Amino acid sequence: MKTVLMVAEKPSLAQSIAKILSRGSCSSRKGLNGACSVHEYTGSFMGQSVRFKMTSVCGHVMSLDFIGKYNNWDKVDPAELFSTAPTEKKEANPKLNMVKFLQVEGRGCDYVVLWLDCDKEGENICFEVLDAIQPVMNKAYCNESTVFRAKFSSITDTDICNAMNHLGEPNRNEALSVDARQELDLRIGCAFTRFQTKYFQGKYGNLDSALVSFGPCQTPTLGFCVERHDKITSFKPEPYWVVQTKVSRGKDVSLTLDWDRVRVFDREVAQMFLNIVKTAREARVESVSKKEKAKQRPQALNTVEMLRVASSALGMGPQHTMQIAERLYTQGYISYPRTETTHYPENFDLTGALRQQASNPFWADSVKALLSEGINRPRKGNDAGDHPPITPMRSASESELGSDGWRLFDYITRHFIATLSYDCKYLQTTIAFSVSTESFTCTGKTLISAGFTEVMPWQSIPEEESLPVCERGDVFTVDEVKLLEKHTSPPDYLTEAELITLMEKHGIGTDASIPVHINNICQRNYVTVESGRRLKPTNLGIVLVHGYYKTDAELVLPTIRSAVEKQLNLIAQGKANFKQVLQFTLDIFKRKFHYFVDSIASMDELMEVSFSPIAATGKPLSRCGKCHRFMKYIQAKPSRLHCSHCDETYSLPQNGAIKLYKELRCPLDEFELVLWSTGSRGKSYPLCPYCYSNPPFRDMKKGMGCSECTHPTCQHSLNSLGIGQCVECENGVLVFDPTSGPKWRMACNKCNVVVHFFENAHKVRVSSESCESCEASLVIVDFNKARSPLPGDETQHTGCAFCDPVFQDLVELKHAAMRHPMHRGGAGRRQGRGRGRRPAPKKPKDKMAALAAYFV
Ligand SMILES: [Zn+2]
Ligand SMILES: [Zn+2]
Ligand SMILES: [Zn+2]
Ligand SMILES: [Zn+2]
Ligand SMILES: [Zn+2]
Repeated sequence: MKTVLMVAEKPSLAQSIAKILSRGSCSSRKGLNGACSVHEYTGSFMGQSVRFKMTSVCGHVMSLDFIGKYNNWDKVDPAELFSTAPTEKKEANPKLNMVKFLQVEGRGCDYVVLWLDCDKEGENICFEVLDAIQPVMNKAYCNESTVFRAKFSSITDTDICNAMNHLGEPNRNEALSVDARQELDLRIGCAFTRFQTKYFQGKYGNLDSALVSFGPCQTPTLGFCVERHDKITSFKPEPYWVVQTKVSRGKDVSLTLDWDRVRVFDREVAQMFLNIVKTAREARVESVSKKEKAKQRPQALNTVEMLRVASSALGMGPQHTMQIAERLYTQGYISYPRTETTHYPENFDLTGALRQQASNPFWADSVKALLSEGINRPRKGNDAGDHPPITPMRSASESELGSDGWRLFDYITRHFIATLSYDCKYLQTTIAFSVSTESFTCTGKTLISAGFTEVMPWQSIPEEESLPVCERGDVFTVDEVKLLEKHTSPPDYLTEAELITLMEKHGIGTDASIPVHINNICQRNYVTVESGRRLKPTNLGIVLVHGYYKTDAELVLPTIRSAVEKQLNLIAQGKANFKQVLQFTLDIFKRKFHYFVDSIASMDELMEVSFSPIAATGKPLSRCGKCHRFMKYIQAKPSRLHCSHCDETYSLPQNGAIKLYKELRCPLDEFELVLWSTGSRGKSYPLCPYCYSNPPFRDMKKGMGCSECTHPTCQHSLNSLGIGQCVECENGVLVFDPTSGPKWRMACNKCNVVVHFFENAHKVRVSSESCESCEASLVIVDFNKARSPLPGDETQHTGCAFCDPVFQDLVELKHAAMRHPMHRGGAGRRQGRGRGRRPAPKKPKDKMAALAAYFV
């Protein structure tokens, strides 16, 4: 029997789709990476009986990065990143072992059906999956096609089965446009960010950012927020005057009239009009007009409109909204939430979707009325050809969806019902008056039929007192005439909703990337989110934008980015060449980069006003390995070390104390080591400031301490002090902390695990020999004669911390013993001596649970 492999974008989607296609009769098992499951069943495919295997990835399989040495900030001129630096695709999350997993499941399969989400990112992941599995799949007969793409917009029986019956092919051009965007963002973003970060952090002591980043789309986004800020600060309120008149007829009718001139900006002119109006006792009705007006029902919902309303009406940020919308989609409540389309295709079953909502108490009445009366045709919108507008696919209750999930679903559903409802109709009455030689009017609205506003009450026409019945020639008494002095007021900071509108209008960012860019400028401390979800730029954000503007306005203006995104769309449509677009864009930005570097001084002039120079901050701590003078420790976040002689800045781990480590030096570069610790109960490890910023060996990451360094002979390295595999996490190593005596401990170099042992021992060392049964390094422990807990008169013992019977009571392994490879599978528990005196090591979060929560 032949095998068909099917791959979805997330584990939960694979499960839902498999359930639908197998009619609930699939069997499931965990995949080798623990994160993905495989659902199997038999069925028919292209007229033959086959075995189906449905599984998933967890988002992108690969991510783009520079190869090894180009990740070193100190050894590479950022200008090289535009052209010379080669890139490679690396596994996006090595812990998930996705490529291996796909190959294990894909080996020997005959066909593959790609069920990735139907947007450009999904198309890109299709080819990542194919790259992994095609080499291990069975060879096709003749030219039989073996690769299929399923196109679907919601996780419902109809949509999924329909997709299975109309399989197509993956679209290489769309995938390429994503590759192009990734490469442009990586090269341009990294070059500018590295140069700026090094330059500014090396120059200013109180710069409040860990990273001074530049992004070809992120920066124009920030630009909009700062532009508004500039308007606010340069705003000069102007006084103006309004003539207000109140008239009445009899006791019951009293009206406040609007002046036809609205306002004047000259006090004397205003005074003159006041005097004219004041002389009159009567207001004469010149005309009465009645007009029937309509408030249009909304267009069908697309992503940006959903983000706007979620932010302004529900108080939910774009990133958060997208996460919730995706969850609703994955669980089958709504159709795919990433779409630009506001137009329903002709064959879309609107009535069917509406019928789903007929039993929901919150809008059942409106839905039933519509169903019996017949739905209205939705307004014509824009058909981007990707997906239908965002539509509720089934009914739901608040208890099923959770608070935010329900609020978003409630909105999406009401919006959907509104698009099928009738326009709201009202009568607008305008009475025009003349008072002396001046004209005034008074308008009122009365509702004729509520239409869609019944289901969207926040859109309804506010109830007003109705206007009196009168006709031309009627006379009212003037009760009061006065001059109001007012001031023009400045605009407020941009709301998220306004920012989304601006990004959409200028063609920067897509439905997928708008939330990401907005989130980035918040997280990187360039704007803060104020009440009403208004975005207020920080000092740093303002200085950066002003600086770019001064050197090269195009770095901030949306024009270039929008042009690039147009080119990317042309690649996706097969109308532009991937390589040419890339080359052309990089050339432009390379020239911009050189110009920026040459003009950096003009940025400095702005920075100096807001930030203090690094030479004036910090205190001497450790010696530089290049010039052997003292470097200054700058405690303000991000804390770092600065050598003013070499004019170099080195990053440090954050959120802990830093002190000099026994004046020891790194054998590789002679920098003095410093010790980072989070207090007496927490973790600590020594690190070399140079190696921390510039990993000495390939495959080491930035930000590693000596406890992770693989230097073969250094006495502070992992090689010398590593004891054994971590008891909690997969890749961690428990490393002995030689500074921890007399409360000796070892700590994992990856997770939070700390294991205490040999309390009050005089000396603890790690031997070069290892345990025969568990391969952990042996430890040599010396106790004082008087207080030795060792049997007999012994003061020294060498053994394995995990297996040695003499040591068993001296190691706080309650937690560890159950998990260590030696003891998995039910060996007896041991009770460490430390138990009861000190809290057990903090249990790290269950990884699978955390992962599962992330990928719902
Ligand atoms: Zn130096
Ligand atoms: Zn070093
Ligand atoms: Zn080292
Ligand atoms: Zn660990
Ligand atoms: Zn052992």
